[in-house]
Amino acid sequence: METVTTRLCIVGGGPAGMMAGLLFARAGLAVTVLEKHADFLRDFRGDTIHPSTLDLMDELGLSERFHALPQRRVEHFSGVVNGRSYRVADFSRLPTRNRFLSFMPQWDFLDFLAGEAAGYPGFQLIRRTEARDLIAAEGRVAGVRAEGPDGPVEVRADLVLCADGRHSGMRERAGFTPRAFGAPIDVLWFRLPRRDGDPEAAAGRFGPGRILITLDRGDAWQCAYVVPKGGDAALRAGGLSAFRAVVAEIAPFLADRTDSISDWDCVKLLTVTVDRLDRWHRPGLLCIGDAAHAMSPVGGVGINLAIQDAVAAVNILAGPLRSGPVAEAVLARVQARRMFPVRVTQALQRVIQSRVIAASLAAHAPFRAPLALRILDALPPLQALPARIIGMGVRPEHVHAQGSP
Ligand SMILES: Cc1cc2nc3c(=O)[nH]c(=O)nc-3n(C[C@H](O)[C@H](O)[C@H](O)COP(=O)(O)OP(=O)(O)OC[C@H]3O[C@@H](n4cnc5c(N)ncnc54)[C@H](O)[C@@H]3O)c2cc1C
Repeated sequence: METVTTRLCIVGGGPAGMMAGLLFARAGLAVTVLEKHADFLRDFRGDTIHPSTLDLMDELGLSERFHALPQRRVEHFSGVVNGRSYRVADFSRLPTRNRFLSFMPQWDFLDFLAGEAAGYPGFQLIRRTEARDLIAAEGRVAGVRAEGPDGPVEVRADLVLCADGRHSGMRERAGFTPRAFGAPIDVLWFRLPRRDGDPEAAAGRFGPGRILITLDRGDAWQCAYVVPKGGDAALRAGGLSAFRAVVAEIAPFLADRTDSISDWDCVKLLTVTVDRLDRWHRPGLLCIGDAAHAMSPVGGVGINLAIQDAVAAVNILAGPLRSGPVAEAVLARVQARRMFPVRVTQALQRVIQSRVIAASLAAHAPFRAPLALRILDALPPLQALPARIIGMGVRPEHVHAQGSP
């Protein structure tokens, strides 16, 4: 059996795990990231890099290399109701350096973080290796047992950071069960070709009983069709032609290409979950990112929150970890710092889910654009507020100077 001894073992190479890995290694700590997949090339999992993350790239001195990667900039987000467009969020009004969202395939972003982290001597990413269990010693978590391509691997560490996503197995092993808040919707994701002359970059289209979000991915539109919770089966039972017709009706500019949804395999279901742990830590273990709180897709903020958790964890823990295992009270400070943004963001998401999205799905006849949409469109300076909540989040984190740049 292979044994690795390190200061910090991070389970999961998603946005939370890779950002934490990079930052802890930059702070001079030995860190091992376990990722069960061979690469980052998986299904669509969101492409949004928010202004707060772009600001972090600046703070880390990485922005030049980051912006050299293929990406698209989006400065506005609109709501389209009955064919009329209302501008909702204007990122160009943000009081920060990066006044736009970057759309970049998540695997490119994770590859970038992995490449940057590899430049630090303490960093190790072990792919194709799945954490299966926790190692306990002297009343605390002291590492993980994993399974790699060549057999069992044991990673002994002063801290295990669970960044293994919303179905986290490690938090289950730690005895944690998230509190679920329920969500009235699910989302179906698919892609359609994008052509010159297509309308604006990113928009949510609302009609009676239907909502379609279209996100510009360069040569394609990444589309999210929102259904009532559990509505996927009924939609599929209605047949593909009926689904194509619905898409064409709500976004007429896409009518000439709905045939590229050639079968139901092109349409992936995201079961929307909103949950969080009441307690993110126990001695020797801390959960961050989706493992601590699964976010609704409203606002596309899951990646951002996961990254912000990673930054807060490094700011609080890197110093104490240099001298060995940290007291649980120190781990609790990470939860205390991040719980407030998570609570506020989830509360806002739940209000929008039930008051705007579910109400629109339940409507049977054309309806007026909600008052909030009309006000935001009429008073452009107000569009900075949703942009701020989406783009920077509640309590944005900044990298402390504990690492060499
Ligand atoms: C279809 C879809 C669309 C989304 N769209 C957006 C969007 O537009 N914007 C946005 O901000 N967010 C979006 N999200 C949410 C976003 O993907 C998550 O909030 C974010 O990825 C959370 O990051 P994380 O690092 O906490 O977890 P994850 O990204 O889930 O990463 C967890 C990692 O851990 C690995 N792993 C799991 N178990 C183990 C194990 N036992 N051992 C080793 N490795 C393990 C997984 O392979 C994975 O790489 C979307 C999610 C989905 C599913």
